Amino acid sequence: MCRHVGYLGPPVRLDELLLRPSHGLLEQTWAPNDMRLGGTINVDGFGVGWYRADRAEPSRYRAVGPMWADENFAALAPEVSADALVGAIRSATRSTSAERTACAPFRSGRWLFSHNGAVPGWPESLAELAEKLDPVRLLASEAPVDSATVWALLSHRLSEGQPPVDAVRDTLVEVVRAVPEARMNMLLSDGQLLIATTWTHSLSVCRTDRAVVLASEPFELPAAARGPREGSGWEESSWHAVPDGYLVVADREETTLSPLPDIELRDSPTAESR
Ligand code: GLN
Repeated sequence: MCRHVGYLGPPVRLDELLLRPSHGLLEQTWAPNDMRLGGTINVDGFGVGWYRADRAEPSRYRAVGPMWADENFAALAPEVSADALVGAIRSATRSTSAERTACAPFRSGRWLFSHNGAVPGWPESLAELAEKLDPVRLLASEAPVDSATVWALLSHRLSEGQPPVDAVRDTLVEVVRAVPEARMNMLLSDGQLLIATTWTHSLSVCRTDRAVVLASEPFELPAAARGPREGSGWEESSWHAVPDGYLVVADREETTLSPLPDIELRDSPTAESR
């Protein structure tokens, strides 16, 4: 299943954070080491959205095909620095769009969103939940893919003014209630916060003196993101695996982990009756 990464810290070049590191997102394209429940490589497209202190809204680059094959991104990445970003590489879920627009991160205003997972039975399985959405939001959905529908549900909550942490948790809860087999690792950022969930797939967190990184798989952080106390060996940069069924909220100061209500959901009568 797809891999994603979220970063908050001092400005880093996109190539330093994504392309050059040992086991960075580029390497995870062909050699991920913790794919769960299907999928072997992540070559169905990729995307990066990044924030700069001098711009209100994030910029974004997305493309179909493997990250390694994109000359334009290879040329662009060393020219761009960002102090916050969301990157994703895609292993497409069956029967979903193969277009660029189906690649994360999805964007609305300051928000960037990535979904690592799948909603079995989509689109029928999410049809009832989608009924509460403004038809314009649905019609404007970027691509026919389960993740874009999840983003429509979440961005609807954000646009209604729900606090982002609640919106992420409630979106996961409503999707899993409707589709108990849904796999729902989500990642949301506004450039100041990273909010992520673990619901089946892998996620690790690394906080250095300067930066915080959430990623599907640990990788070697560039020197710019490591503090003076951190060595160059990336094993030392203290990545921690986030257990399954957790909500992670990180800003530039601190990271908090709290359990999602998994027992209630996974053992609920609704889940058993499906
Ligand atoms: N369901 C999403 C897609 O098709 C994400 C897939 C994944 O995590 N591999 O793009």
